[in-house]
Amino acid sequence: MNEAWLEASNLGVILKTGMFYPIGFGGHHWLLYILVPAIIGIWAQIRVSGAFRKWGQVRATSNISGAECAREILQAAQIHDVDVVETNDFLGDHYDPASKKLCLSSNVYNTPSVAALGIAAHETGHAIQHAKAYAPLKARMAIVPVTMVASQMLPFILIGGIWFGMTGLITLGIYCYLILLVFQLITLPVEFDASRRAKIILQQMGIVQPGEEVAGVNRVLNAAALTYVAAFIAALGNLLWLLSMRDRRD
Ligand SMILES: [Zn+2]
Repeated sequence: MNEAWLEASNLGVILKTGMFYPIGFGGHHWLLYILVPAIIGIWAQIRVSGAFRKWGQVRATSNISGAECAREILQAAQIHDVDVVETNDFLGDHYDPASKKLCLSSNVYNTPSVAALGIAAHETGHAIQHAKAYAPLKARMAIVPVTMVASQMLPFILIGGIWFGMTGLITLGIYCYLILLVFQLITLPVEFDASRRAKIILQQMGIVQPGEEVAGVNRVLNAAALTYVAAFIAALGNLLWLLSMRDRRD
């Protein structure tokens, strides 16, 4: 616990003095720690929606839907206990390791577009990670319960800590943000690896053709990767912001 605390403090000091002060935001830490990550996050969301809209219109020559693509890849990987199901949430595609369900949004599930194939293959990449006991995915699954507790407690901790000036709660809040930061950090290799697998498998199985189709898959998956980097930056910003709030009270 103490080591984690020390690490968080050092991280804050290093980033504040070494990187961010020369930019010149002076005392307005929240601008840098909250607003800048929020803008990066919105920009990443716009990019991923734009990439999906563009490459969602381009039909792949293999002419199979996202669902068929996922099932073919699962079969080739000899994974027979994962269900591919349709979900109504737009861009709500995900793999649920607890129920071994591969959920694809309607636009991906039913469509033979370059974007749909990229996303379906990415989610199947998570199922393959699970089947192969890929270590970062196991670590991510292990940290999910504590991450949920931390994020549910945070609003109350912040209200008590900041509005009522309870320093102990600010410290607790810093631990919570640290847990969320670790979660986002572990998410990065899990997501990058799923996309890496997807790109290789799609080409190997001939589901997307070299040239425009491969380029489209890359655009969509790289845009999606940006949103995870943005989430990590936001988590880092939150942690630094609360550290700067604590420093002001000392
Ligand atoms: Zn993913």
